[in-house]
Formats: sequence, C-alpha cells, structure tokens
Amino acid sequence: MEIRIGVGFDIHRLAEGRDLIIGGTKIDSDFGFIAHSDGDIFFHALTDALLGAVGFGDIGQLFPDTDKRWKNAPSNIFLEKARDIVYQRGYKISNIDAVIVLEKVKILPYREQIIDNTAKILNISKEKIFLKGKRFEGIDDIGKGEGGFCIVNTILMR
Ligand code: MG
Repeated sequence: MEIRIGVGFDIHRLAEGRDLIIGGTKIDSDFGFIAHSDGDIFFHALTDALLGAVGFGDIGQLFPDTDKRWKNAPSNIFLEKARDIVYQRGYKISNIDAVIVLEKVKILPYREQIIDNTAKILNISKEKIFLKGKRFEGIDDIGKGEGGFCIVNTILMR
C-alpha cells in the first residue's frame, strides 16, 4: 500500500462588511476574508493539501487570482477539482485534520456543519474529517483579529 501525506496552508486578511465563509459555511461575523474568491481558508488549505499529496501543483496554479472566472467564486469549485484529481489517480482519503486560527470567531458552533459540507463534497464519511479552532492569544496582527489562517493535513492511500 502507498501512503501519501499532504499539507496545506492558507491565510487571508479580514475586513469589515464581508461575508465570513469557512468550510462552505457562513459564519456569523462582522468581518470576512479579503480574497479574489470567497476566501474560504479551510477549503483553500484542504485543496492544497490534497493536490500536494498527489504531487499535482497547487491552488494558485490551477486557479490563478488573475482569472476573472474565480472572482468571488465559491471555494467548493476548487475542492471538487482537487477531489477529482485525487480519485482519478486511484487514491482514497484516509483522514483530514485541520487547525483554523481566528481570534474573534469560535469555530466549535460551526464544526459539525463544516465537517458535513466537506464530507459531502469529498464523498467520504464524516468520521474521516476533523478540525478545531484556535486563538492566537493576542499576538501580532492575527491576534488583533486582522486576519486568520488554516493548516490542513491529509493522508491518502492507494
Ligand atoms: Mg486563499
């Protein structure tokens, strides 16, 4: 059996008056991510983790932010593309684990919804996906609530 590990990272600044979308879920917040697409840090990091695990480029190559097609695009488009690449190569997703760092927003109330959305898109059971929210404890700009980031690990098998 072949085992592949993928890692993904994404970070965006926050600005007032934008929707905050994480894992395809609208989070109750006065601030949302500034991005070319919807700025979904979890789906972006997960897309990169899946692509990286199979050695197939990265999200910036596949979906350049200079391309008008991805302006305000829902990020499930990126995740669906990564999913297809992974499955076409014969891999199965063993698990996904993520850390979402946001100072002023709690992830826990949305965790089930995010996991549910992700499981549906990837066509895997919810038990294979986990994520947790962390704070930056007031340190630096992230700690002042000016941005947020996400780290994702995934293991694939074939
Ligand atoms: Mg991004």
